[in-house]
Amino acid sequence: MGTGPLWDLVVVGAGPAGAAAALAALHERPDARVLLLDRADFPRDKSCGDGVAPHVLAVLEQLGAHDVADGLRRDHSPVTRLQLALGALEVERPMRRPALVVPRVVLDARLVDAAVAAGAVLLRHRVRHVEAGRDQVVLDGSVRGRVVVAADGARSPVRRVLGVPLPGLNALGLRGYAPTPAHRVGRQVIRFGEERQPSYAWSFDRGDGWSNVGYGEVLSDRQTAPTHALMVGRLESLLPGSTAGAHSWRGHHLPLSTMRSGREQPDGRVLFVGDAAGLVNPLTGEGIYYAVATGALAGRLAVGDSRGGRPGVGAARLATGDREAPGAEYRRALRRLLRTNLASTAGAAALASKPSVLCAGLRAASAEQSVFDDLVELGLGRGRLTLGLLAGLARNLAAG
Ligand SMILES: Cc1cc2nc3c(=O)[nH]c(=O)nc-3n(C[C@H](O)[C@H](O)[C@H](O)COP(=O)(O)OP(=O)(O)OC[C@H]3O[C@@H](n4cnc5c(N)ncnc54)[C@H](O)[C@@H]3O)c2cc1C
Repeated sequence: MGTGPLWDLVVVGAGPAGAAAALAALHERPDARVLLLDRADFPRDKSCGDGVAPHVLAVLEQLGAHDVADGLRRDHSPVTRLQLALGALEVERPMRRPALVVPRVVLDARLVDAAVAAGAVLLRHRVRHVEAGRDQVVLDGSVRGRVVVAADGARSPVRRVLGVPLPGLNALGLRGYAPTPAHRVGRQVIRFGEERQPSYAWSFDRGDGWSNVGYGEVLSDRQTAPTHALMVGRLESLLPGSTAGAHSWRGHHLPLSTMRSGREQPDGRVLFVGDAAGLVNPLTGEGIYYAVATGALAGRLAVGDSRGGRPGVGAARLATGDREAPGAEYRRALRRLLRTNLASTAGAAALASKPSVLCAGLRAASAEQSVFDDLVELGLGRGRLTLGLLAGLARNLAAG
């Protein structure tokens, strides 16, 4: 099985999840041998709304990537206001912590550079074959890792090759870049669709005269998948003026999480993270936080101890060929980290698919800053359905 050097960790995919895995492994054990593979050269573009939640920067700082977090804050204007709209209903409030809008061509390259500066070896390589053994995983016949982190995105070739199912719905999103109209400066604007639900259009001001604009909807058997033209048309009709002068359209799937996400993580030495683990918030389409959070968890566990205990405990167990440990331990750690949030976002997404409930939620957020804050937290980070949010919802549903 395989002839190349044995790496402590091989990461497939150098998006936010893969870069975070490499950073975390090297933060935990600076002498770890970490190989980062991606089929693309960096910088590379990725279809995304480019909305970077403050929680993402917090994870990067925990991994020692202060330079990346500081650089993003320095180079990109904070977006302090969020507008949510449905029909005639419009709520706009300040966010408790500002978000950033960072083109992925910038964000991902900075994360990869940080991983390389920390000691990861970056190679351009498209992984096609995976052989998962008792003591090691061999990629394409020659690349050998004690542990492999699969951070290879929504279509995850590693997942497909290993036949690991991914339950849950998919959404399809299309983004472009367009000049920011004056009334959308300094804002993230989300307008929910009234046709083809659940869907929404967005306009996220980058702070440099341009906005990331786009449209996304959940795919279902009830309707045919949207075409490029339909998506641009829906965006323009929901946010008039947003597509004027737009360029660089790019679409991609979003694998939405369920309350059971993470349970399908198999035992063994391949750990799935980010989109490859089907971790995109079903309410908002946010996935970068989950990507860095699960990447960090898996990277740390691959070379050390997932519970933050004695460094090297996990590594020693992996070296002795404990087949069950890494996958089973990561599955438990992932569920501990996200279980409450996954249950809450799945519940909230089911509720929000009913227009009357969505309206009541927006009215509650309009009435109280704390309800608005809870809603933002649920959509961007590890938030949960709070009593305040549920009470606000109930009050506004009763009021009709
Ligand atoms: C239209 C749209 C809008 C979105 N808006 C937002 C938003 O505003 N905010 C937010 O937080 N999230 C958003 N998301 C979700 C977010 O983009 C993803 O959740 C995030 O990119 C996941 O990161 P990742 O590292 O898991 O995967 P990716 O970023 O997809 O990275 C996967 C990497 O794997 C590489 N790869 C794939 N196959 C192979 C292979 N065989 N061999 C080697 N390398 C391989 C790819 O080249 C890629 O670099 C949006 C998604 C879409 C589609």
